[in-house]
Amino acid sequence: MRQNIVAGNWKMNKTLQEGVELAKELKEALQAQKPNCRVIIGTPFIHLTEVCKIVDQDLIGVSAQNCADHESGAYTGEVSAQMVKSTGATYVILGHSERRAYYHEDNAILKTKVDLALKNGLTPIFCIGEVLEERESNKHFDVVKSQIEEALFHLSADEFKKIILAYEPVWAIGTGKTASPEQAQEMHAFIRKTLAEKYQQSVADEISILYGGSCKPSNAKELFANPDVDGGLIGGASLKAEDFMGIINAF
Ligand code: PGA
Repeated sequence: MRQNIVAGNWKMNKTLQEGVELAKELKEALQAQKPNCRVIIGTPFIHLTEVCKIVDQDLIGVSAQNCADHESGAYTGEVSAQMVKSTGATYVILGHSERRAYYHEDNAILKTKVDLALKNGLTPIFCIGEVLEERESNKHFDVVKSQIEEALFHLSADEFKKIILAYEPVWAIGTGKTASPEQAQEMHAFIRKTLAEKYQQSVADEISILYGGSCKPSNAKELFANPDVDGGLIGGASLKAEDFMGIINAF
C-alpha cells in the first residue's frame, strides 16, 4: 500500500550553516523517536550535498525544490536533474505554485522536468492546485485535472507509480488559511479517481497524495486522518525542528 509522507519545503530560507544545523536537529529527533511515516526535506540546491552527508536517507530523504528542463549545457544558473542526483538527493519538488507563478513554469515545461527527473532516478514530488479565483468559480477540479493530465498522463503506469503528488491550493500556501479536512479529502478523492480512470484503481491506490498549505502541528492530525490524504508538504512549519516534528508526530 502507499506510504504516508511528511515532506518539508524550506523554499529560499536558511544559510548553509543554518540548514546543516536544522538537518542535524531533525536527525537527532528522529533517531530518538522513529517516525510512523516517511520523512523528506526539500532544501535549497546548495545545501543538498552537505545535508546528504549528515542524514541517513533511510531516516530522512533529501529533495531538491526544482531542476532544469534541459539535460545539460549553456543554461546559466540552472541545475540539472543529473546534478541533483549526483549530490545524493533522491527527490525533487516540481510544479510548486511559486515556480508556476513567478518563473512561468507551465504544464509543458513541467512535463519535461518530470521526464528528466525520472530518467535520472529522482522521485518527483509533483505539486498541483488551484488559485482562489478558480475555486470561487468552481473550476478547481478542472484545473487540477488538467495540471495532472498535461504534465503526467504521458507516463506509463510503472512510471506513474514513482510519482508523489502534492495538492496545494494556492490560496492556502503561506496564508495561514488551511483547506478544511473536508475540502482536502474531497479533492484528494477526486485526484485518486482521476488516476484510477487513466491507469487502474490499483495504481491510483499506490500513489501518495500529500496536502500542502498552512499545515501545522495543530491541524495536521485532522488533515492526515482523511482516507485519501497521505501526509503533507510543509513550508513554513518545516523551518523549525520542533514544528516539523509536531507534524511528523501527527501520524
Ligand atoms: P506553507 O507552504 O506550509 O508555508 O503554507 C506549503 C508549500 O508551499 O509547500
